[in-house]
Amino acid sequence: MKTRVTKKVKVNIVTLGCSKNVVDSEVLLTQLKGNNIEAVHESKMDDSQIVVINTCGFIDNAKQESIDTILRYVDAKEEGLVEKVYVTGCLSQRYKDDLEKEIPNVDAWFGTRDLSRLLKQLNANYKHELVGERILTNPGHYAYLKISEGCDRPCSFCAIPIMRGKHLSKPIEELVKEAHHLARNGTRELLLIAQDSTYYGLDLYKERKLAELLVQLCKVEGIEWIRLHYAFPTGFPLDVLDVMANEPKICNYLDIPLQHASSKMLQLMRRGTTREKTETLLKTIRAKVPGIAIRTTLIAGHPGESKSEFNELMDFVKETKFERLGIFPYSHEENTHSYSMADDVPDKIKQERVEQLMELQESISYDLNQKRIGSTLKVLIDRREGESYIGRTEFDSPEVDNEVIVKTNQHLRIGDFVNVKITDASEFDLTGAPLT
Ligand code: SF4
Repeated sequence: MKTRVTKKVKVNIVTLGCSKNVVDSEVLLTQLKGNNIEAVHESKMDDSQIVVINTCGFIDNAKQESIDTILRYVDAKEEGLVEKVYVTGCLSQRYKDDLEKEIPNVDAWFGTRDLSRLLKQLNANYKHELVGERILTNPGHYAYLKISEGCDRPCSFCAIPIMRGKHLSKPIEELVKEAHHLARNGTRELLLIAQDSTYYGLDLYKERKLAELLVQLCKVEGIEWIRLHYAFPTGFPLDVLDVMANEPKICNYLDIPLQHASSKMLQLMRRGTTREKTETLLKTIRAKVPGIAIRTTLIAGHPGESKSEFNELMDFVKETKFERLGIFPYSHEENTHSYSMADDVPDKIKQERVEQLMELQESISYDLNQKRIGSTLKVLIDRREGESYIGRTEFDSPEVDNEVIVKTNQHLRIGDFVNVKITDASEFDLTGAPLT
């Protein structure tokens, strides 16, 4: 067998964008270490000879952040702080041809499904035996489990299918194997992610298999919380709600991006649903899983959104009282269906609408949090901050939702579950102390 002679190099992986990119970077990290190549995640600038930037190409701000990061490392290369700069991920997948010309100092560009080629470039080989194994880039007590790649949906504003390709479900056995591996390494909370998690199985098994996947994952010893993200409202598999209601490990939490509420806008956005159907689904979710925290994401300022459609969205948010809400200004993305429409809502108005919705949500969240005072909640400890610990309830996903400030003189370990008596609440945080 030919021995590969390689200069001892260190690879620094830099991740931008969403949790799906985090998983891709973790897989790259694991494969490099599996090839005895020293690799780190987001270490300081001059610490590594090679930098791999895993980019995001979703909307304007994210694209700009990716380009700024690439330019920073290209400058570092010119200063001799790094030898090679490689770029992968969504921005590279989407704009490689232009970027190659605009930033010639990048050594090579890779797409979102180019892992083997990237590994080759780094003098490594893809190791199948490592499938299901993953070195985590966070403390490890929670981990993202990417159940599928890509998306088959036609949402008019979205460029993700251009960057991530067609929907591809991972086999249940592979995901269960990955969950066991993560649990053996200390993971207590699994966050199921995808572009569209409710589509799971339709390609591979010709039927929706999310409910079955959840049941299998609940059998994995050591995992205490399973959290469901990126559900799609149209064709929502109701059997998932039965599993959520019956399986205590599944958090009473559902992330279901709705994007809008006006039937006219939902049609323009090609979401395949209406306001009435959306409201019926939300009522069914709350009826089947009492006490559930529903997280959604909305877009303000999509082409065609007049004042009256926006007011309808405000009314919908006021009535529905989402426990968790994210709001984005519409971003006019090339090669999407919406790009052929006039971007007729001025940026200033887009921003004002985002702020109006956030202000409304702040008051809703404050009222909902006030009702938690006096209750006892199970909290997963994420970190220490000054004199307090910071954790989350089953109603909160890392980095995007509320947190619990835990005041105690006791020593708590990161990754511990603690029953906390809630004594105070603000718009987006709860405060409390461990039950003694
Ligand atoms: S489901 Fe999500 S990822 Fe897929 S096209 Fe729609 S918005 Fe984009």
